[in-house]
Amino acid sequence: MSKAKSMANRSNSADPFGIRISSRDRVIYPEIGLTKGDLADYYAAIASLMLADMAMRPISLVRCPQGRAQPCFFQKHDSGTMGPHVKHVPIEESDGGMEDYLYVEDAKGILACVQMGTIEFHGWGSKASKLEYPDRLVFDLDPDEGLDFDKVKAAAVRLRALLADLGLVTFPMLTGGKGIHVIAPLDAKANWAKLKDFAERFSRAIAEAEPEMFTANVRKNKRKGRIFLDWLRNQRGATAVMPYSARAREGAPVAAPVAWEELAKFKSGAEFSVRDADKLLDRASSQLFAGWGQAKQGLPKA
Ligand code: ATP
Ligand code: MN
Repeated sequence: MSKAKSMANRSNSADPFGIRISSRDRVIYPEIGLTKGDLADYYAAIASLMLADMAMRPISLVRCPQGRAQPCFFQKHDSGTMGPHVKHVPIEESDGGMEDYLYVEDAKGILACVQMGTIEFHGWGSKASKLEYPDRLVFDLDPDEGLDFDKVKAAAVRLRALLADLGLVTFPMLTGGKGIHVIAPLDAKANWAKLKDFAERFSRAIAEAEPEMFTANVRKNKRKGRIFLDWLRNQRGATAVMPYSARAREGAPVAAPVAWEELAKFKSGAEFSVRDADKLLDRASSQLFAGWGQAKQGLPKA
């Protein structure tokens, strides 16, 4: 970016939501010259769309303080260094100990994370106010290395039909990476044990019935041209990338909600990027997206 343009950006969008972003000119996606300031502006622009799903969920952050090409780390906890806009919720861990997890409730919280070098946001399947009752079921479709994206789309569409047979309305999301997440919002009446049990039984049954398309085996060498249905995203403490999160991957792709009606036209899971904030905002307010992610439904009994 030219110096003049970068200066202009700085004065136009300094301190989004009152959160000071330092080192705005630091390049964090070297392959395209995208800066920390650009990333902060993206998050400021889409914050309200993102919060519709992410607000109040315990989150894990992928922080890359020196940019995505330098070491990044996954962060679940924090001792207060993220400032007052990043909230804490104590959660009992599987070993019985208590740990403070992070959540945000507004754009200031998102931007405070970005100021601290966050690129990606990953969220629990439940909200801090009702931690033990997940409000979504998510299937992470992970294709075998080199598998054509057409196959991933076909698998997502198949999964949609199979879940619809059980009465569940689902919504697809391009992950910004290789795959698609198929998400069913839930009424948060069933607990984690029930959710995980359902997700596991469902995935194993499908992998058995349609073994040419799916595998429920986590081992990569078992994929063999198939798609791994990652049902483990549905256990307590597991996270999935949040809608509209940027990814710390080449070209600054973002996780993008899409509609079933348009899925066929996408060429990869990384169709949208941090540069597409305006496009994502337009899409979100279009007819195609009315009701995305919304359905009043419980976990099937079966
Ligand atoms: P892709 O479509 O490329 O697979 P993805 O977001 O689904 O993108 P995965 O590698 O399949 O990426 O991971 C699934 C989810 O598991 C992530 O979205 C993230 O929430 C969680 N995850 C991944 N790596 C870690 C990690 N090191 N620690 C904790 N959770 C992780
Ligand atoms: Mn995945």
